[in-house]
Amino acid sequence: MIKYLPQLTDVVMEEIPGKITLAVEISRCQGNCPGCHSPFLKEDIGLELTTDVVDMLLYDNFGVNCFLLLGEGDDPEALKAIARHLRSEHPRVESALYSGRQEVEDELYELFDYVKVGPYIASLGPLNSWTTNQRLYHHREDITSKFWR
Ligand code: SF4
Repeated sequence: MIKYLPQLTDVVMEEIPGKITLAVEISRCQGNCPGCHSPFLKEDIGLELTTDVVDMLLYDNFGVNCFLLLGEGDDPEALKAIARHLRSEHPRVESALYSGRQEVEDELYELFDYVKVGPYIASLGPLNSWTTNQRLYHHREDITSKFWR
């Protein structure tokens, strides 16, 4: 099971360049980023993110063209099930994953259209900082520099 925080779910324009993105914060983070900006996301909080909930969120936010999971949680199979569901049932909505890990498995690059990797290091800054250690890939193409224009 992966859990999300309904109260923090929002439509955003900055996280994925050129996309109108519905972003959900995923709890039960297993990461250990130095200077973690959201330590509450390591806790077992929120509601289960099922495929039915994904359908409901996209219905309630008609017009978005990207669905972003901000975090991986602690259940890889549930995470992959969400990605597969998005691709099969919502083909016009691209899928995106923000991971705090340095690298993720090839399967995640295949299942998600966008994948962000790299722990958050405060001194290097987030994706929109040109010194960032993080990278955003679209179908394995590094598009991080789009944040700097
Ligand atoms: S991925 Fe890193 S910054 Fe984000 S909640 Fe987990 S430990 Fe904190």
